[in-house]
Amino acid sequence: MMRRFGTDLVLLTIDDEESVRSSIAAFFEDCGFSVMQACDGREGIGMIHAVRPDVVITDLRMPHMDGLEVVDEIKRIDGNLPVIVLSGTGVLADAVLALRRGAWDYLPKPVPDLVELELVVARCLERAHLLRENREHHCNLERLVDQRTSELRKLSAAVEQSANSVIITGVDGIIEYVNPKFSQTFGYTFDEAVGQTPRILKSGRQLDSYYAEMWNTIGSGREWQGEFCNKAKDGRLYWELCSIAPIKDETGKITSFVAIKEDITDRKRHEEQLYYQANFDVLTGLPNRFYFQKHLELQLELIDCQSQFLSLLVLDVDNLKSVNDIFGHGFGDLLLTEIAHRLELVCGAGCFVSRFVGDEFVVVLPLSSEADLAVFLGEKIRGALNEVFQIKGTEIVTTVSIGVVVYPEDGECVESLLKNAEAAMYQAKKIGKNMVSFYSSELNNQLEQRFLLESRLHKALERGEFSLQYQPQINRASGAIVGAEALLRWTPAGEAPVSPALFIPLLEESGMIVAVGEWVLRQACLQAVAWLKQGLPSLRMSVNISALQFMRSDLDLTVRRILHESGLDPHFLCLELTESMVMIDSDRTMAMLTTLTQTGLTLSLDDFGTGYSSLAYLGRLPINELKIDMSFVQRMLTTRNDAAVVNTIIAMGQGLDMELVAEGVETEEQFAYLAARDCAIIQGYYFSRPLAPDGFARFCWEWQG
Ligand code: C2E
Ligand code: MG
Ligand code: MG
Repeated sequence: MMRRFGTDLVLLTIDDEESVRSSIAAFFEDCGFSVMQACDGREGIGMIHAVRPDVVITDLRMPHMDGLEVVDEIKRIDGNLPVIVLSGTGVLADAVLALRRGAWDYLPKPVPDLVELELVVARCLERAHLLRENREHHCNLERLVDQRTSELRKLSAAVEQSANSVIITGVDGIIEYVNPKFSQTFGYTFDEAVGQTPRILKSGRQLDSYYAEMWNTIGSGREWQGEFCNKAKDGRLYWELCSIAPIKDETGKITSFVAIKEDITDRKRHEEQLYYQANFDVLTGLPNRFYFQKHLELQLELIDCQSQFLSLLVLDVDNLKSVNDIFGHGFGDLLLTEIAHRLELVCGAGCFVSRFVGDEFVVVLPLSSEADLAVFLGEKIRGALNEVFQIKGTEIVTTVSIGVVVYPEDGECVESLLKNAEAAMYQAKKIGKNMVSFYSSELNNQLEQRFLLESRLHKALERGEFSLQYQPQINRASGAIVGAEALLRWTPAGEAPVSPALFIPLLEESGMIVAVGEWVLRQACLQAVAWLKQGLPSLRMSVNISALQFMRSDLDLTVRRILHESGLDPHFLCLELTESMVMIDSDRTMAMLTTLTQTGLTLSLDDFGTGYSSLAYLGRLPINELKIDMSFVQRMLTTRNDAAVVNTIIAMGQGLDMELVAEGVETEEQFAYLAARDCAIIQGYYFSRPLAPDGFARFCWEWQG
């Protein structure tokens, strides 16, 4: 070992850790020093009084009297005695303080290399020597000390001015230091924060296990990094990326923790926004298709097929397209939002309600031991959506078609379940809308058939495959034939006729009904004129008008043009509309009905009783006739409710001064029941099935005959 110092030099090491003292002693004794050891400040000062050493190396953190007090005391005893402090990195601030209070130099602890300490000691001894001789050197020393101090100042300034929040806590988690950025972000001043724990920032948005994991990591001496959602003093939430490093002393014991927090609130907000956009429907705020997919996949993993059912409803608003056409898309959007809201209310918290594109919603029911939950809910939803909506002061009634599937019978994965639920929903639409329909594999075949049918239907008009049949309407009192209802028939070339119940919905859904309906109207008017020319008694011709035709703003013009072309007196034309078409209370509905009646024709409400007419509103409409729906007629003799409906409709019609037509009358008993209640016009198989034009003419001659 190198010997650089004379044997008369005395070094005092003050440290509460024996191992530190002895390694310093061994090293400097090798260098030629006499080394004294003290295990705390008090003992050290005692030794200085007894034997004045040439240099003192002291620890900062010690029991009884700490390093700072040692520095103070030495300065008081002998201003020229060099004292070097050793400080743990976690207590840099203490080191700065020690230098300010008069320590000559400092080294971090654990001392990385004793040779470095030796150099520091040599420097100090030299300075002490010069100092004793020369004031100037004393000044240099001060400058050097200042230099050291300023290094530390730089360090602490960096922390003070950091763009990140910095918190230093003790091992007990008590805050010892916060920087200005922290105070600025979280609203706690230095004094308010110190003495507290970082728990004051807890937002409650993170699990306790998350904090536990963090404490585990840093408690075992490792660095931890993670994201926190923290709460400022004023309640504002901040997201931060936080790194926490444990600071250890030379023995490896953790003395404190330094947390550096980067504010990532903006990034988080952006992430949340992206998450929202990816998972939710912006218009209604409901989960979207993507989220639905994840939810259903999870449910399929969770389900216990032995004891649980999982069902799914797909629902489609029947008349949204009409609403958009009439009132505009803004209005339609408001309606959708209301529907979404009502759906959530009806379904309750256990259900997962999502919106797919357009007017399609999908509800996943909670796993349940009850198989028929879906039917119950489907009906409940249907009922709720049939209640009036108030949108911008306008009353709207919606109907929905609902398709239901149950896992695993109706599909084994998300795609097949969805596809089949949609198929069931289309089925519900096809068989009359506003109903709940279950999936069956047979249904799938039907759907294929349907597509085939639809493609053939496209060419039916130009190929002349459509025809009309006419069903007589008889005045009950006089027994005279007073009218005919024109009913569309389709006979594809070389095949049997297709049922109207099959192809009319297809015409409506594809929009073809507008062109075909115009053809029907023209054909029926021409037929009525032809029969008059043949000398048949004057009949009123009833023509069914579909919703799509009614919604077109030029319906009145089309009707006028056809009346003009065919030369039919408008008094001999009756248009059959349905309740749902006219029950949308709008200026437009009223205006269209009024212009139509002004031409002199009659307006009739077909299938009356199946919709949700408000009596008050009905009374204001220029409608001349109600057609009691045949379902009531056919059940009125067996079911009391249906009899009551028929009685009510008749009373209502009479009260509102409307003509009453009963359709679907098949038996003498039905006829007698209606006759007794003074229903004016009867239509049905009881008198005649719908007939081709020739057959109808023959029927008239024979009837008169
Ligand atoms: P709707 O307007 O209510 O027509 C009455 C339906 O009841 C007709 O069925 C008719 O054949 C049937 N019917 C009449 N009397 C009886 C009876 O005593 N017993 C039974 N079981 N049924 C009877 P059709 O011809 O199959 O038409 C079904 C529906 O198709 C019509 O119902 C109507 O809504 C629609 N439709 C028919 N032709 C046209 C058309 O040219 N245009 C439009 N838009 N729809 C049409
Ligand atoms: Mg009709
Ligand atoms: Mg009808």
